[in-house]
Amino acid sequence: MREIKTTQSILHYPGTEVHAIQESNTRTGMLRALCVLMSGYFLILFFMFYDVNQPVLMLAALLCLMAHLLLLFMTFYNKSFLTYILMNVFSVGWFLLFIYMLGWDCGVQHFVFVLLVLACFSIYNHLAVKITYIVFLCGVRIGMYFYTNAFPPMIEITDGVNTAFQIINTVTIFIAVGIVAIITSNYAEDVEKKLLLYNKKLEKAASTDALTMLPNRRGILNYLDQLYEKHESQVHGHKFTIVIGDVDFFKKVNDQFGHECGDVVLKELSKAFSDFMTGLGQVSRWGGEEFLFVFENHGKDETCYQLERLNERLKKLILIYEEHPLHVALTYGVAEYQGGDYHSTIIQADQKLFVGKRSGRNQIVL
Ligand code: GH3
Ligand code: MG
Ligand code: MG
Repeated sequence: MREIKTTQSILHYPGTEVHAIQESNTRTGMLRALCVLMSGYFLILFFMFYDVNQPVLMLAALLCLMAHLLLLFMTFYNKSFLTYILMNVFSVGWFLLFIYMLGWDCGVQHFVFVLLVLACFSIYNHLAVKITYIVFLCGVRIGMYFYTNAFPPMIEITDGVNTAFQIINTVTIFIAVGIVAIITSNYAEDVEKKLLLYNKKLEKAASTDALTMLPNRRGILNYLDQLYEKHESQVHGHKFTIVIGDVDFFKKVNDQFGHECGDVVLKELSKAFSDFMTGLGQVSRWGGEEFLFVFENHGKDETCYQLERLNERLKKLILIYEEHPLHVALTYGVAEYQGGDYHSTIIQADQKLFVGKRSGRNQIVL
């Protein structure tokens, strides 16, 4: 059988309240975080341009800030794709505007890389679209370079402002790429954890009998596989004994009191077996009204002693179904594992059970 606290909740926050599928959740989370970041970026630019008395640039920064707030607002209505498209169209627009006004040195062209990373994690299942868009972004960046080589900037800014601009850009781009990468990797980790959990649940369900909740045939064979490996890895082996117990005349219970009553009897018996086997080994529903017991660290004789104890318990177990008291007994076939393939031990136990059935039932056959 094979299954961050404050910071993490802050990182998960942008994705909350999104009730769409998980993919959309991640993309919306990234878009919201980026909208907040870019709003902050344009607010800082606004004050920076205010400080150097550049009204045109102030207006541009203010419009960009408002546009990002609008996009943020939109994520609460159009959960992801439309906002994503608009954000890209708008971003390419403001890159061109700033390059047109301030030239290559302003450094906004580097934001193209944020769009590139965002595209990689936001366009699902369309590799051709993703590649085409990345090529387009590359073209936009090269285009901006040639444009700035051919035309001088409209507005001249001082070296000091330019330096501040570069630093703000660099920090913002790093944070933006970090946001996209962290949200995406968190999502991947979550998915992986969920898959592991589902796998475990599925494995458990596939190995459990739905009526009695005991391990089914598959479950007990897995358990025997583990015992076999233990036996093989130990110098003196790991002894165990297999018992197949079959309820005597069970058909009569069904015939007399109905199938539902038979089910209740099987469930009650299973509970009793399961309690009894605690610390001794494992019991499973082998099929129908047959149960396969594995007594660990028990030889044949020790197992026989345990089965007698079990029978004593069963005698005291009076099952009441719709006011009818019911007593059940079992016939057991016992076989001690002798090494090698344990399937032959199961066959032996089955043969012994058969002998017990033919010679009167309600007995333990060694
Ligand atoms: P024997 O002593 O020879 O074992 O007799 P028996 O009546 O117990 O054996 P037989 O093989 O003739 O009948 C087994 C019965 O168990 C028949 C089948 O309907 C019943 N049975 C098997 N699985 C279930 C189950 O999940 N629920 C109920 N109610 N009955 C079941
Ligand atoms: Mg039977
Ligand atoms: Mg049977």
